[in-house]
Amino acid sequence: MSNERAYNFSAGPSMLPISVIEDAAANLANYKGCGESVMEMSHRSAEFKAILEDAEKNLRDILSIPDNYKVMFIQGGGTLQFAMVPMNLLRKSGKADYIVTGTWAKKAAKEAEKFGDIKIVASSEESTFSYIPKVKREDFRADADYVHITYNNTIYGTHYPYIPDTGDIPLVADMSSCILSEEIDVSRFGLIYAGVQKNIAPSGIAIAIMREDLIGFAKETVPTYLDYKIHADNDSTYNTPNCFAIYIAGEVFKYIKEMGGVAQMHKRNVEKAAKLYDFIDSSSLYKCPVAKEDRSLMNVVFVTGDAELDKKFVAEAKKNNMHNLNGHRSIGGMRASIYNAMPAEGVDALIEFMKKFQEENK
Ligand code: PLP
Repeated sequence: MSNERAYNFSAGPSMLPISVIEDAAANLANYKGCGESVMEMSHRSAEFKAILEDAEKNLRDILSIPDNYKVMFIQGGGTLQFAMVPMNLLRKSGKADYIVTGTWAKKAAKEAEKFGDIKIVASSEESTFSYIPKVKREDFRADADYVHITYNNTIYGTHYPYIPDTGDIPLVADMSSCILSEEIDVSRFGLIYAGVQKNIAPSGIAIAIMREDLIGFAKETVPTYLDYKIHADNDSTYNTPNCFAIYIAGEVFKYIKEMGGVAQMHKRNVEKAAKLYDFIDSSSLYKCPVAKEDRSLMNVVFVTGDAELDKKFVAEAKKNNMHNLNGHRSIGGMRASIYNAMPAEGVDALIEFMKKFQEENK
């Protein structure tokens, strides 16, 4: 046991800003002197209403969300969105086009197949999802109800270097593992959704940012909770929400604002990732299998080429206070998830450890 906090490279749930954790701890039993914990508070109380309103307002500010978009906090994480998207957006032709760039994209497409005519317009599976396919407007079916992409691929360490041009077809993006790590032009998307447990809050909710004119098309058979309109019309409090996760999300939005906004986060993320990729590319032991132009700033995947040595690396790193450096169980190797809350010192410590391990394992 140690009193020291580790550098936690987990893909999610992952590190939160320490100042947010400490502030939440100081307010845990008695939130700002109101006599109750946020965990105990009625979701209809004035205190929680203020928490929710501030969270939405700060998210709108830091992401420059246009007024014609609704922001919703919905339980069920990213996975429930895989179902809610087709249940709500297959509203005319019943067709949707998916680009498959990893396990999560594949799961999203498979779930959608339960509800409509789904076409995989491009996939990088033949090369173990090591790149992002270049897709043009003509590749999509003209009558598709929407196009779905996974903007950052958590398991394979890729990120779209471009936003696909879908013309008038609404573009839906899963941004679970990159939201708030970079500025985005929200108006290019019909719907952005993200599970919160990487860059925002403890697990348990997803955030959906949806263009208003796309809301309200769920068929009558869609369960009430799975209709975006219910969440939009009831300001995310149709039922009892995950108050604590929403509270922490709000604190993280405030923190990002105070740190200089999403642009500043992006600058820091570019610096952290560049250091790590540069070291990997120049090293004799480690290799990053991802195409350079498609590399993620959030999830840095690398291997030694020897599965036993990879395991030894992960175990020794843990002894050195660097946790969760194993790749996803489906592909092995290593993955350093360096989300917004990972300090630059954590990346520096990892590089130092990698150098030492390389020397010792020539
Ligand atoms: N989408 C992406 C890109 C993810 O990385 C994950 C989880 O890691 C999910 C969806 C699933 O999210 P959840 O576990 O919140 O359902």
